Amino acid sequence: MVIRNIKKNVLPLEKILLISDLDDTLTSSIPIYDRVLKDVFKKNFPKNDFSSFTLKKFKYDGQDIVKNLREMTAAYGVSSKDYEQSKSLLINDAITDFSNRLRSGEKVVVLPGVNEFLEKLSTNSNIKKILLTGNPRPIAEMILTSVSLDHHFDIILGGENGIDKESNLNNALSLSSIFFDGHTLKVVLLGDSPIEAKLAKKFGFVFIGVATGSHSKKELAEIGAGKIFSNLSRVDEIITEVLKT
Ligand SMILES: [Mg+2]
Repeated sequence: MVIRNIKKNVLPLEKILLISDLDDTLTSSIPIYDRVLKDVFKKNFPKNDFSSFTLKKFKYDGQDIVKNLREMTAAYGVSSKDYEQSKSLLINDAITDFSNRLRSGEKVVVLPGVNEFLEKLSTNSNIKKILLTGNPRPIAEMILTSVSLDHHFDIILGGENGIDKESNLNNALSLSSIFFDGHTLKVVLLGDSPIEAKLAKKFGFVFIGVATGSHSKKELAEIGAGKIFSNLSRVDEIITEVLKT
């Protein structure tokens, strides 16, 4: 009989993967997006009237850009055939327009507590952070760089290829294995939409919800996926949630 020598002092450390949404969770760039999309739709579909276009009319959060653009253009009479033919151009034009607007001084807003929250997490080498957004990745990078938050993220995944959040979440998990090989892993999902809360519940992840988007604390809490806060300003309390095992 072989008795294994159990080395109690080398039990694996728990590592934490924080997967965060961008829009309305960390930053607010919706007013810029409103103007960008209006410009881009007008340019690509000159026969359709987009004068009343506003993002507020749509449930865009938690979805990828391709799905959002399809719904938005359809609402203004663009056929699915015309949309399919133009979608790559629309996304490229949106990236250019967004970049021009930032360069001309339009500002992305960093939501309360975000800087301090990310700074404090960055001091812990057992935590890796992935940004998971429905934005085209180049726009997500521009947004983060414009407010000096880009250095906090190890990986940025966008929705420009029409990858939905659940598939992209699986991509994030596969990619994270490069950081966490051989360690137990706790995954924390941070977001402002019910889609994110539901995914956290489905995957068995810890959910930290913030009511800084278009959903109330009550609405997010009803999904029963985790802790819901008004915003990230209760930094120490939220970090305790991230760290607790
Ligand atoms: Mg969001």
